[in-house]
Amino acid sequence: MNITTPAENYTKETTPNKRTYKNLRKAFLFLLPSLLLTIVAVYNTGKADDEKKRLEFTTTCEEISSKISARLHAHAEMLRGSAALFATTEGVSRGQWKAFFNASKIERNLPGIQGLGYAIIIPKKDLQKHIVTIKNQGYPDYTIKPFGEREIYSSIIYLEPFTERNLRAFGYDMLTEPSRRKAMELARDSDVAALSGKVILLQETKQEIQTGTLMYVPVYRNGMPINTIEERRNAIIGWVYSPYRMNDLMNGILGNLNNTKLKELQLKLYDDSLSNATLIYESKIDNSKKVNDLPSQTLSLPLNFHSKNWVISFSEYSNPTNYFKSDAFIVAFSGLLINIFLFILFITLINTKRNALIIASKLTSDLKENESKLNAILDNSFDAIAVHIDGFCIMCNIAALKLFGFANKEMIIGHPIINVIAKSEQTRIQDYIFKRINGIDAPFVYATKGIKTDGHIFDLEVSLSTFYHSNKQHILVILRDISERLQAEAKIVSLATRYQSLLQMASDGIHILNDQGQIVEVNNSFCKMLGYTREEMLRLNVADWDNQWYYEELQAKLKELISSGGLFQTRHRRKDGSIIDVEINGIGIKLDNQNYVYASARDITERKKLENELKEYTHQLKRSNDDLENFAYVASHDLRAPLNVAIKILDLLDNGTEEATSSNKLEYIRMAKKTMNQMSGLIKDLLDYSRIGTNQEGFSEVNITETIEYLKQVLKDKITQSSARIIVHELPLIYANKTLINELFLNLLNNALTYHNKNEVEIEIGCTEEKEAYKFYVKDNGIGIQEKDFEKIFLIFKRLHTQSEYAGTGIGLALCKRIVDTHKGEIWVESTFGQGSTFYFTIKKFHQ
Ligand code: ADP
Repeated sequence: MNITTPAENYTKETTPNKRTYKNLRKAFLFLLPSLLLTIVAVYNTGKADDEKKRLEFTTTCEEISSKISARLHAHAEMLRGSAALFATTEGVSRGQWKAFFNASKIERNLPGIQGLGYAIIIPKKDLQKHIVTIKNQGYPDYTIKPFGEREIYSSIIYLEPFTERNLRAFGYDMLTEPSRRKAMELARDSDVAALSGKVILLQETKQEIQTGTLMYVPVYRNGMPINTIEERRNAIIGWVYSPYRMNDLMNGILGNLNNTKLKELQLKLYDDSLSNATLIYESKIDNSKKVNDLPSQTLSLPLNFHSKNWVISFSEYSNPTNYFKSDAFIVAFSGLLINIFLFILFITLINTKRNALIIASKLTSDLKENESKLNAILDNSFDAIAVHIDGFCIMCNIAALKLFGFANKEMIIGHPIINVIAKSEQTRIQDYIFKRINGIDAPFVYATKGIKTDGHIFDLEVSLSTFYHSNKQHILVILRDISERLQAEAKIVSLATRYQSLLQMASDGIHILNDQGQIVEVNNSFCKMLGYTREEMLRLNVADWDNQWYYEELQAKLKELISSGGLFQTRHRRKDGSIIDVEINGIGIKLDNQNYVYASARDITERKKLENELKEYTHQLKRSNDDLENFAYVASHDLRAPLNVAIKILDLLDNGTEEATSSNKLEYIRMAKKTMNQMSGLIKDLLDYSRIGTNQEGFSEVNITETIEYLKQVLKDKITQSSARIIVHELPLIYANKTLINELFLNLLNNALTYHNKNEVEIEIGCTEEKEAYKFYVKDNGIGIQEKDFEKIFLIFKRLHTQSEYAGTGIGLALCKRIVDTHKGEIWVESTFGQGSTFYFTIKKFHQ
C-alpha cells in the first residue's frame, strides 16, 4: 500500500499556478462582504455628514436673519427715543438735536447708520414763513426741494451729522418721492417705525453708489390724541428718520459675525420679492471659495418689519477640500485600509499554511534521503558498526555481518552484542561497556578477542560511544579486525629494534636532524662524542654544538645536504666547552613526507693534530733548509772576512818582510787577536741562532718582571756607562721558553743601550693585553731607524752601521725574530729617525 503524507498530497494535488489562483479567489471571496460593509458605512456617514452641514447652514442663516431683525428693531427703538424728545420738549432746536445726537453715540452703538434726521411738515400757507425762519437761522440758500406747488410740504431741517453727504439732503421734501412717502404715511397712520422701499439716497455721490432705505418714526404734536388714524393724521408734525446706505448698514450688522461662516456664504436681501429690481443688498464672497457658480446649499428666509417684507436669500459655496476632512472620507479611507490589511493577512495565512506544508514535505523527503544515505554510509563502511540498547543489538551494517560470518542481519539484531566476544574476554568487555555507559574513565578503543560463527578467535578492536535518541541511551559500537595490523606492528617493532641496535652499535656519531636542524634521533656514540646524555641531545639543535658556522649558514648547509648530501669537515663544541674537529657524512632522507638529514660524525681531532704537526715539521724543515742556506752564505762571506784579515796578518808575520818589524809585530798580533775575537763572537752568535729550535719544549710560566730585573743586573755596566734610566711598567706572567725570552729581551735592551748618541738614555718597557696575545714593547730615545730599513734589520747579518760606528754582528734582531716565531708571535719596529725606536713583539697567550 502506498501511503502519502498530507504534505505530499498537497504538493501533488495542484500545479503552483492553479494553487495561487485558488488562494486568490478565496481571499477575494473573504474580502467581498467586508468591502460591502465599508460601502454601506461610507454611504451612511456621508448622509449624516450632509445632514450635519444642512443643519449648520440653516442655523447660521437663522442666526443672521435674527441679527438683522434685532438690529432693525434697535434702530426703530433709537428713532422712537429721538421722537420722544419732541414729546417732552416744546420745540427742539437745531443745537439740541445735535447735542442729542452726539450724546446718543448712535454711530458707535448702531454702526451703518447714515444719520439721524428730522423732517417737518409744512402746510402750503406757512411755506414762505418757514423758509424765512430757516434762512434766518443762518442758511441764506435754504429752500425746499424739489420746487413746485403742493398742498403740503415736508422738509428735512435737521440731519446729524450735518456735514458732507448729509448737507445735500437739507431742505429735501421726502413726500415727493413715492417710496419714501409710502413709508412716511405708514409710520404716520400706524404710529410705527416704517421702512421705505429701495431708494437711492440723496447723499449718494456719483461714486460707489449704494442702494438705500430709510426708517421713519412719526412725531405727533404734543398733547394731541393719536388713537385713530384720523387723530394721528391731525396730530402729525413731522418724522424722525434715519437714512441707511444698505452696504454700510449690513456691514455694521454682520461685522461681528463669525467670519469663517460668512466666507463660504452669500447673502442677498430683497425688498418684497426675489428679483433683481428688488435686490437691496448683496454680500461679497471670496471668489476663491467658489468652486463653481452653483451653491452647495441655499435658503430663503422672510424678514417682516412693520408691514415691510424683506426676503433674505442665503447661498453656501462649500470648500472642496472639506471633503477629505469629512467623516465619510475618513470612514472610506479607514475601511479601505482595514480591507487591504485583512486581504494581506488572509493571503499570508494561506501562504504560511502552504509553506508549512511544503517545508513538511521537504523535511519528509530529506529525512528519507538522509536515512538512505545513512544506510549507504553504514553499509559502505569497512568497519563493522552496530548499535545496541540495554545490551541488545538494534541495528548493524554489512561489514558487521562479514566480520563475524553472519548470513543476515536477523542473526545479530535482537541478540546480545556480547555474543560476538570470545568467552575469555566477555567479563572484561562487560566491565568496559559498564564504564563507558556510566561515564567512568575508560579508553575509547579497546583491544580484545572476537569470535566468528565458525568458532575462530581473532584480534578485535572495539570502540564504544554513547548517544541519546528518543530519551534512550544508545551505544554505538565500532568493531575492527586488527589481526593483520598487530602482525604488521610486531614486524615493525622487530625491525625497529634491529635498526636501533645497529644505530647504537656504530662507532661513528649518528644523528638524524629535521630540516630545521633539530635532532630527532641520535646514537650513543654521538652523545659520547659531545658529552651529552641522550635526553639532553634530543633537545638540541645543530646550532647548539656546531662551532664553525652561524645559524643561517647551518640552515643553508642542511638544505644542501637534503638535496645532494655531502662530506665535509667542521668543528663541534662539546658540553664542557672543548672543541673537536669532526668529519660529517650527511645525506637527505624523506620520512612521512618530511625532509631529514641522516648524518654520521667522526671525531678527527687526533688526525687534525697529526696533520698540523706534520705541517709544522715541514715548515720547520723548510726553515732549517733556509737557515742552512743562510749559514752557508755567512760561512762563505762574513766568516771569511775576519778570517781573510787574520790570514793576511799571519802572512805578513810569516814572510818576515821589512814591515814585520818587532814593533809592529805586536800590533799585528793584537789585530789578529781582535779579528779572532770578533770571529769568535760571530761564531757564538751563530751558534745561539742555530740552537733556537722550533719545538716548544721547555715551555713554562715566565715572570717577565723578574726577567727584566735579572737582565738589568747582567747589563749593569752598560747601563751605568750610558747613564740609562729604565722604566718598567707592569708586566705579565706568560707561558714561554724562559731562556729564549731572556735572550729576546737581552738583545732588545742591549741594542737600546747601544744605538744612541746622548748621555741620558731612557728606555721604557711595557705590555698591553690583546685578545689572544700579550703585546710587549721596548722603547728607546736613541738614534732611530729609517722606515726603509724597518724590515731589513731583522735579517741575519744585516747591519746599518760599520763596526767603527757601532760594534755588532748583525745577528741580534734575527735571533729575536726567530724566538718570537717560536712563540707564534710577531715582531716589528716603529721609529722616528733621530728620535728613537720602539720594538714591538707579541707572545700568544696559550700554547698547545
Ligand atoms: P747588531 O746589533 O749586532 O749589529 P742587530 O741584529 O742586533 O745586530 O741589529 C741590526 C742593526 O739594527 C744594527 O746594526 C743597528 O743598525 C740597527 N739597530 C738595532 N737596534 C737598534 C736601536 N735600538 N736603535 C737604532 N738602531 C738599531
